[in-house]
Amino acid sequence: MLEVRELEVAYGPIRAVRGLGFAVPPGQVVALIGANGAGKSSTVRAIAGLLPRRGSLRFEGKPLPAAPEAVLRAGIALVPEGRGILQRLTVEENLLLGAATRRDRARIGAEIAAQYERFPILGLRRHGLAGLLSGGEQQMLAIARALLARPRLLILDEPSIGLAPKLVEQVFRLVEELRATGLAILLVEQKARQTLRIADHAVLLETGRLRAAGPPAALTADGLLAKAFLGEG
Ligand code: ATP
Repeated sequence: MLEVRELEVAYGPIRAVRGLGFAVPPGQVVALIGANGAGKSSTVRAIAGLLPRRGSLRFEGKPLPAAPEAVLRAGIALVPEGRGILQRLTVEENLLLGAATRRDRARIGAEIAAQYERFPILGLRRHGLAGLLSGGEQQMLAIARALLARPRLLILDEPSIGLAPKLVEQVFRLVEELRATGLAILLVEQKARQTLRIADHAVLLETGRLRAAGPPAALTADGLLAKAFLGEG
């Protein structure tokens, strides 16, 4: 579905991602894991069109456009690290922004209602400022907003960061629920072991390069994770 080949991302002389290749098949959860600074965020930001990149990116058999809005229209939505919620807008205004690239405006109201059903707290707070939500609620809002773009691939960049353990569990459960609806998910995480428990496939990055890839069991089995300094989180 998404095919990444020979991806290169650089910040001036700093080569953050080097010759990276991996794929996300339809309906699967692919975990992109690696220590702090391994290049995970750079990879997904480049896919989303937020950073210049080199290499070949194909989505559903076609070259992926480079501009962020075009990537979104093509069917890939990114929930960025830090969530990117607009704090001074209401919950509902944030959700409406998620649907900004949609042409089928008529259906948006019903889909926002569906998100309120999925996340009742967002419905209760719909007219409240997004900045007043808790960290976990803001993460839910960021995901709901991304879903309003009706993506076929959802990219989550460290959705569990800063959340209490119970909420982290909730985020992982949500990822499983979303996969059950047929959505493909690229999940960036530092909480490697928890992530590998739900992933169908894993990609381990080390200093910008592919260190290992395969079924989660293969990565947990041979001590690779310990060597890559991954915490349990
Ligand atoms: P984290 O979990 O901390 O986000 P990561 O695996 O996502 O880590 P990246 O954020 O992609 O890693 O960073 C990869 C490399 O690129 C690091 O060496 C980092 O210092 C460097 N880097 C990231 N952003 C910038 C930037 N804006 N300018 C210069 N170097 C950067």
